[in-house]
Amino acid sequence: MSPALDAFLHAIPKVELHCHLFGTVRHESFEALNRRAGSPLASEEIDGFYTRGEKPVGVLRVLRALDAHLVRVPDDLHRLAFEYLEDAAAHNVRYAEFFWNPTGTVRDSGIAYRSAQQAIVRAIHDAQDEFGITGRLIAAIDREASPDAAVEMVGWVTANRCDEVIGIGIDYREVDRPPELFLQAYRNARRAGLKTTAHAGEFGMPWTNVHTAVELLQVDRIDHGYTVVDRPAFARECAERGIVFTVVPTNSYYLRTLPPERWALDHPIRRMPGLGLRIHPNTDDPTLHKVTPTQAWAMMVRDFGFGLDELRGFMHNGLDGAWIDDSTRRRWRGEWSAEFDALRAQHPIPTHE
Ligand SMILES: [Zn+2]
Repeated sequence: MSPALDAFLHAIPKVELHCHLFGTVRHESFEALNRRAGSPLASEEIDGFYTRGEKPVGVLRVLRALDAHLVRVPDDLHRLAFEYLEDAAAHNVRYAEFFWNPTGTVRDSGIAYRSAQQAIVRAIHDAQDEFGITGRLIAAIDREASPDAAVEMVGWVTANRCDEVIGIGIDYREVDRPPELFLQAYRNARRAGLKTTAHAGEFGMPWTNVHTAVELLQVDRIDHGYTVVDRPAFARECAERGIVFTVVPTNSYYLRTLPPERWALDHPIRRMPGLGLRIHPNTDDPTLHKVTPTQAWAMMVRDFGFGLDELRGFMHNGLDGAWIDDSTRRRWRGEWSAEFDALRAQHPIPTHE
């Protein structure tokens, strides 16, 4: 990676739209929470969580460990959210929408929804004051839990409405948990004026899950969505409708399943813009994936071969996919495009990049 490209990608203004609070926990914070809990996890095990092997196994077990053993009081959530926003701001992320799964917090950590939400919202305000970053929270359905639990969770959100909690998503393991199971929860969310997104077409799950999320759940955007490339006619429809796909260069599934020498070449991210799809790169679980926002953007160049004009387009896709009001969107688009171009002029990037 050329230092000029790295400096440029660090400096450009960014939004982040696909990042899970529990996937942002700093190693030292994880250890501190573990010590406080009487060390239910061996330190070698924690080290293992923060090791990204050649064939990464995925991070869901780490997220479950946080719910089950480590997050105990609202201040823990404040700490994690504040630290995440601090780390994102250090990479010139100006606006971050991040996921949190209330079901696990209430059920396993034993923290009431209202107190949990208040703690995270307080962290959003504190981070805005300290670092100038705007944070927004997306309450995410745990798809491994029941559809009724999802409806219940959306009920908590609507009963505790506040401006900082702007929408719902759905995550955890998609295998055997297709989007249609959660139709009622999405209906209720939309009826309450919440924005919606969904993880779909992750873990190699079929393009039909993306289709269901778009057509039946009527989501405003898609997280991952890679298998849409298997159905070009549907990809074209998504392209025409301008649906933004938040993609994750470090996604574990493809690192694990594609041969290393073919990974970057065969990765669906490489093909998506060619189908007209609007993509935007994200970190997903930055500390566990060992990636920063700058590095996620750099992978779009280094691994997937995109040029700076395409990155400028990805920046616009991020703004169009963000759940901000249109006047802010227009203003940021103008300001950020000018900043991008000025930075590009200041950081001569070798042409082969
Ligand atoms: Zn994700």
